[in-house]
Amino acid sequence: MERRSLSGWGRTPVSVADVIDADAVDLDRLLAGFGPRGAIARGCGRAYGDAAMNAGGTVLRLADQELVLDDATGLLRVGAGVTIDAILRESVQRGWFIPVSPGTRYVTIGGAIAANVHGKNHHRDGSFGRWVKSITMVLADGSTITVDPDSDPDLWWATIGGMGLTGVVTSAVVEMIPIETSRCLVDTVRANDLDELMAEMERGDERYRYSVAWIDLVARGARLGRGVLTSGDFARREQLEDTDPLRYDPGHLASVPAGMPNLLNRAGIKVFNEAYFRSAPRRRTDEVQPIARFFHPLDAVGNWNRLYGHRGFIQYQFVVPDEQHQVIRRAIERIVMAGRASFLAVLKRFGEADPAMLGFPMPGWTLTLDVPAVPAVLADLVVDLDEMVLEAGGRVYLAKDAVATPEMIRATYPHLERFVAVRDRVDPDRVWNSDLSRRLEL
Ligand SMILES: Cc1cc2nc3c(=O)[nH]c(=O)nc-3n(C[C@H](O)[C@H](O)[C@H](O)COP(=O)(O)OP(=O)(O)OC[C@H]3O[C@@H](n4cnc5c(N)ncnc54)[C@H](O)[C@@H]3O)c2cc1C
Repeated sequence: MERRSLSGWGRTPVSVADVIDADAVDLDRLLAGFGPRGAIARGCGRAYGDAAMNAGGTVLRLADQELVLDDATGLLRVGAGVTIDAILRESVQRGWFIPVSPGTRYVTIGGAIAANVHGKNHHRDGSFGRWVKSITMVLADGSTITVDPDSDPDLWWATIGGMGLTGVVTSAVVEMIPIETSRCLVDTVRANDLDELMAEMERGDERYRYSVAWIDLVARGARLGRGVLTSGDFARREQLEDTDPLRYDPGHLASVPAGMPNLLNRAGIKVFNEAYFRSAPRRRTDEVQPIARFFHPLDAVGNWNRLYGHRGFIQYQFVVPDEQHQVIRRAIERIVMAGRASFLAVLKRFGEADPAMLGFPMPGWTLTLDVPAVPAVLADLVVDLDEMVLEAGGRVYLAKDAVATPEMIRATYPHLERFVAVRDRVDPDRVWNSDLSRRLEL
């Protein structure tokens, strides 16, 4: 056990907890010693805010590294502490890909289940939970159970997306998807304004399995919301001339050292955005890209979160329903006005929601941006954005959140009471607890 300061990927806020590396079999023994602040599981700490933190309590990291892939069925039996990175290093060369990948491969299966993560294919394939066949977890009473969507639907849909608050997932069975090559065929479109970008995205829904747009949150006036849309799917074997079509070598370019000042200041972002936009082709089809470049471009630079300096940053991700698409424009206008927007701004379309009680996606539009942790900017901007999201019937994403209020979450997560009822049933004494759950009164 080690007492440590922890933060999420945004590096703010910070709190101190006892961190324990635990084997699945140790967990029931450890339970008795957790104390009044309880415990929470932690994967790679890629949630941006305080989901995997527990001030004054215990934080558990799972040591179990089981990884068994059945080539005949594509079913993967995997320890919850195993990362998508480790899975891909094993599965891609055997012709299997993770069904849903967030923008980084440095997340664990436990973290992917607990946040019910979405990827560039949400409009087609839904969130991660749709692909999970069963989960083995340790409950607050020390029992280890295996649950699937039929055996206990309430516990299942409270655990998928439940931010670790129903118990510790120790392993899962996940359905992988078959691929013929490890390369993607990518189409790129550079759109000169928001209307053009959103129209392109709507048109692409049917056509592309994967798609996401980068938005320039500096451009104003007629160029407001200009961006670069990339869409694609895995190449089939006959579309590539390659003797080793399933080769996988994600690589790593560089790491940002500790102690950096905030390099992502206004002027820097403006220059970056202009250069990025100009360098994108007006329209290009069928560019061959390896998995790492298409799915995980940010992973090429280790610890890029240090670029925001010691104060850190928050990531704000919200969704609004399709019919409220005009809120995207209003939000972008507000962000541009604040003049503190990030270079990492992403617009995506969501498809159907699943029954996860704390599910984030709904059919519509989701915008993600980083905001440096400068209190004056943050307070005003977030209050205004929250108001727009609330009015539009949208919500913010718990895995990114560090600043929402309990009122905001209560008003926008319609199944929160059902979630609390499941917690009352399986964990009446709140053994599983986190800074996020206390802050948001989950
Ligand atoms: C660069 C970047 C890009 C991202 N892109 C996306 C994206 O495209 N889509 C998306 O949905 N998310 C995205 N995320 C967020 C990330 O996918 C989620 O926050 C994910 O939960 C992180 O997994 P982790 O293993 O790091 O978990 P942590 O951050 O350590 O924990 C996250 C939550 O999972 C719980 N948890 C972890 N392990 C277990 C377990 N064994 N049992 C029960 N609960 C557990 C924790 O208690 C906590 O509530 C991105 C994050 C980064 C840094």
